[in-house]
Amino acid sequence: MSENMEKVYDVIVVGSGPAGLTAALYCARAGYETLVLEKYIPGGQMVTSNEIENYPGFPEAVDGFTLTMNMKKQAERFGAKQTYGNVTALRLDGDVKILETEDGTVYRAKSVVLAPGAAPRTLGLLNEDALRGKGVSYCATCDGAFYKDKTVAVIGGGDTAAGDAAFLSAMCKKVYLIHRRDRLRASKSYEKKLDKPNIEIVFDTVTDEILEKDGKVGGLRLRNVKTDEVCEIEVNGVFVAVGNVPATDFVRDILDLDENGYFMAGESTKTNVPGVFAAGDCRKKTLRQIVTAAADGAVAAHGVEEYLS
Ligand code: NAP
Repeated sequence: MSENMEKVYDVIVVGSGPAGLTAALYCARAGYETLVLEKYIPGGQMVTSNEIENYPGFPEAVDGFTLTMNMKKQAERFGAKQTYGNVTALRLDGDVKILETEDGTVYRAKSVVLAPGAAPRTLGLLNEDALRGKGVSYCATCDGAFYKDKTVAVIGGGDTAAGDAAFLSAMCKKVYLIHRRDRLRASKSYEKKLDKPNIEIVFDTVTDEILEKDGKVGGLRLRNVKTDEVCEIEVNGVFVAVGNVPATDFVRDILDLDENGYFMAGESTKTNVPGVFAAGDCRKKTLRQIVTAAADGAVAAHGVEEYLS
């Protein structure tokens, strides 16, 4: 275990999606020594969006990577530091909170903002995991280019699935959008974008099996939930967009979570431990958007300020 016994940050932010980066911006700008710990790459789910049309200030839309880098730069401009580290253990009860990352590094802070976001939900199908990266993807922006002029399916009916289908239709020969109900959950703004000759929306249908061909995805076995009729379609890739699960396993026994694993923190973002705040998609809330995650980050930073003073 490597340890810096001396250093105690004013605040450590776990996660660098819009909630974490906004918390870091506000804390650093208020003069607090701020460290952001990021597991993989900054941006969280935001960085996987190819086109963000509803974040204020970008009338022509903005891509997730650009928005992420802008938020990161803005936080850094006020002195926030960022490093990589997957937090696996925490001690939050004392005045100095202790966070340990996977590689054994220990960090200390007077307050903590937890903004770990959420990870894509899987379908739980038999060979879904084995075919991950071999035709099964959870990120159209990241992997869409591999399917130029090919046939793909997007599974889900929310904003992500609708956005993915619209995005993929620009490069793929054919896109099936497969949804388990008879209407999409996605906002109305996607209706026009999905009205394309190469997009076929298949309602009332679930995927029973991902079919393998030569070690890769070759098709899907589908079942109509109303008629029980089963059919197979040939696809080269399948994009799973069936929502997210909060990335809160690492605090499961320490902080109050609801039955789905979301932090039981209200609009104040305060958790059940003083000095520890939960911001963004990981928090129990009604609307999960970049703008509400950013708002949580600002509120959490305000909580940090109150707590530290
Ligand atoms: P979501 O809104 O939770 O939608 C998940 C979809 O997957 C739903 O249609 C759901 O069906 C379906 N589903 C869930 N489990 C399934 C399963 N096991 N098998 C088949 N289908 C399943 O998730 P999301 O689309 O990823 O969006 C997450 C949040 O981010 C939302 O708040 C969304 O508004 C936001 N978002 C916003 C934007 C934007 O504003 N530009 C873009 C992307 C995401 P049911 O409809 O039957 O429940």
